[in-house]
Amino acid sequence: MTYDFKDLRQQHDLPTVVGRYLELRGSGGGWLMGRCPFHEDGTPSLGVSRTSGSWRCFGCGRKGTVLDFISYLRFDKPLDACARDEIDQVVAELGSSLAVPVPAPRPAATTTRPTMLEGPAQLALHLAARLYHTTLLASGNDAKSPLVYLRSRGFSDRTIRQQGLGYATGGMLASVLRSEGVGIEAGQEAQLLDAEMGRKEFFAGRIVFMDLDRSGRVLHMIGRRFAPWLGDDSVKYLGLRGASKPLYGYAQLDRRPSSKPVIVVESPPDRLTAVQAGIDAVAVCGTALSNEHAEQLSRLRRPLRFVPHNDESGTGCEAVLRWRDVVGKGEIVRLPEGIKDLNAFVNEAGFQNWLRRIKSVC
Ligand SMILES: [Zn+2]
Repeated sequence: MTYDFKDLRQQHDLPTVVGRYLELRGSGGGWLMGRCPFHEDGTPSLGVSRTSGSWRCFGCGRKGTVLDFISYLRFDKPLDACARDEIDQVVAELGSSLAVPVPAPRPAATTTRPTMLEGPAQLALHLAARLYHTTLLASGNDAKSPLVYLRSRGFSDRTIRQQGLGYATGGMLASVLRSEGVGIEAGQEAQLLDAEMGRKEFFAGRIVFMDLDRSGRVLHMIGRRFAPWLGDDSVKYLGLRGASKPLYGYAQLDRRPSSKPVIVVESPPDRLTAVQAGIDAVAVCGTALSNEHAEQLSRLRRPLRFVPHNDESGTGCEAVLRWRDVVGKGEIVRLPEGIKDLNAFVNEAGFQNWLRRIKSVC
């Protein structure tokens, strides 16, 4: 059973649930107050806000949502979105009749495109990779340049070069292809140019992550939304049209059996953060693991460490629990509380210790 935490929070009125365990009285500012069950409370110091759906104790400092309240009662800690047994118990205590089962997600579509493009289309992909990479390196030191952005996310120039990271301005690919004698049809076949609109570039305004094999050939690209004119509604990570997103980094892995761990993350920047720190990693590029990716991972004879995003909604953990179920092996390693994702962790104290732990957890 998987749960939608947001739905659960909305379906269980906080004052009603808390009111089952302690007496609540109205106070100023929309707060209801009661004696905190988590510490020796002489005066009512636990406040419940119906409007925000949150509670906090002004005595002991514990706080959270309705789910955290039950979790504190049962386990003396806030809800751990990765601890399925605990979540089941919390939901049961809230009232199992109101638990909201979420249908199991359908696996993402399997690839409709061969692993390697051939002929002119493959050449177009390589030319685009080279163009995007040089464009990124030349994007300057202006605060709004994609290069400065990538550096600010902790990536060294060495990583940027080794991984061939790029940026698509959106106005140059067609003329580069023509001047190299490849023709824009090849760019259209590789899905880099829009077949109907001719010169329109698919990755315009995006930072481009290259999915490379071990010899440096470009197999695929993933474009991350960057230019403000793309708007917040546009897809954050886009794969080439006509192909499912790759398991980014898989083609670079040493697939011989070994005890060296491979970590599995959601986003391309998280994967590069791990690679830069000397740990092999792959990124799912979203929360949906396709059957093909699951097979690739389960065949890999190396230890797997799944690292979920720490998001309040718990979707990162939910996704990773599903991945591990489908793959059938691997350990889940949590980031410290308050750290959103691996990339956000790179410049924080404790990163090196955490990396050592990743290497040793079995
Ligand atoms: Zn308290």
